[in-house]
Amino acid sequence: VNEEASAKAAAASVDNGGPTIFDKIIAREIPSTIIYEDDKVLAFRDINPQAPVHVLLIPKFRDGLTQLGKAESRHAEILGHLLYAAKVVAEKEGIVDGFRVVINNGPEACQSVYHLHLHILGGRQMKWPPG
Ligand code: 5GP
Repeated sequence: VNEEASAKAAAASVDNGGPTIFDKIIAREIPSTIIYEDDKVLAFRDINPQAPVHVLLIPKFRDGLTQLGKAESRHAEILGHLLYAAKVVAEKEGIVDGFRVVINNGPEACQSVYHLHLHILGGRQMKWPPG
């Protein structure tokens, strides 16, 4: 499988507003390694880690936030909360010397799960530009 094909496969799902696998993770219907939680957000390890630390951070109530591009002014508070929680997670994971926060938005960015999520990556030297 060439790089372009796997990028396309990763981006195969579309934003249809329906439930996602993350609903089942929030409901504890499928297992995940949860590392942080408060009343608004949940952080758990990515099943396919791209770095020694790779955590996904999501709002517990999606409220239309299938992707960042769908954000409306009412989401400003949860968006700020998520970014602050990303820092708390990075601290908990001991990656304060360097970490990256990524949001893949839409097919061209290879978004595959349409429930807004921040990727928190660290534990190795990152490269720039990202692929
Ligand atoms: P996206 O490609 O949408 O930016 O990121 C979705 C992420 O969710 C991917 O990194 C993928 O590995 C992760 N993921 C997909 N399904 C599951 C799952 O069932 N459990 C966990 N922990 N991560 C998942």
